[in-house]
Amino acid sequence: MGLVSAKEMLEKARDGKYAVGQFNINNLEWTKSILQTAEELHSPVILGVSEGAGKYMTGFKTVAAMVKAMIECLNITVPVALHLDHGTYDGCYKCIDAGFSSIMFDGSHFPIEENVAKTKELVAVCNHLGLSLEAEVGAIGGEEDGVIGRGECADPDECKKIADLGVTMLAAGIGNIHGKYPADWPGLSFETLAAVKEKVGDMPLVLHGGTGIPTDMIKKAISLGVAKINVNTECQLAFQAATRKYVEEGKDLVGKGFDPRKLLAPGTQAIKDTVKEKMEIFGSIGKA
Ligand SMILES: [Zn+2]
Repeated sequence: MGLVSAKEMLEKARDGKYAVGQFNINNLEWTKSILQTAEELHSPVILGVSEGAGKYMTGFKTVAAMVKAMIECLNITVPVALHLDHGTYDGCYKCIDAGFSSIMFDGSHFPIEENVAKTKELVAVCNHLGLSLEAEVGAIGGEEDGVIGRGECADPDECKKIADLGVTMLAAGIGNIHGKYPADWPGLSFETLAAVKEKVGDMPLVLHGGTGIPTDMIKKAISLGVAKINVNTECQLAFQAATRKYVEEGKDLVGKGFDPRKLLAPGTQAIKDTVKEKMEIFGSIGKA
């Protein structure tokens, strides 16, 4: 199966009360680990690409070509969406051009009227091409590619305005934060989530900043309409810890331990383990 839009997998997740994980990719090892784990566990999956990661991998065209070829070479049969994460207006068009199957337009930092106008335009383009589109209301805390939010809670009426434009999925700030959560983080605002759900009806909701949110909060969020959960930092931390251990144990100094295929192997396995753990919590295993 080639790339698919995220629409069908998210509607199934919403109806089945589980969530599909979006795991962000940074390079070949990341992509391979996530695709292989999804296939092994029969789980649908969304590969997220931030604009920074796209640039790092030399451009969205390289990313799309790599992912498509990998799906073919690894005989991946589960549904895979290639999704732009926190796209700018220009970034959205670049990814559409490069062959991504799903787009997030993050207009949360614009005044709501401008967010509505730009999202509306992209809804028409994505519908025409059969791509899924994620929109965002209420900036999500932390920092992602220079877009800084403070962990706001979205205004449910603004969420309805954007949802009514016909987007596929909606990211609403409910006190979630990108990156590591501070020790004094008050937790997700389920009050906001329930109020948003009330306004947007069937719209699958997206929870960003999935790293470090306690499992019981994740499960409650899923029960309240979250159908997609984004994980990025957690894979990075797992990769870093495993790589550090390999070097600290001096394994890179033994035999051909310097070979990148050996040096990166523990980190690659750590990403697989993290993805598996998340898919278990999200309930997406066996749903492909
Ligand atoms: Zn995000």
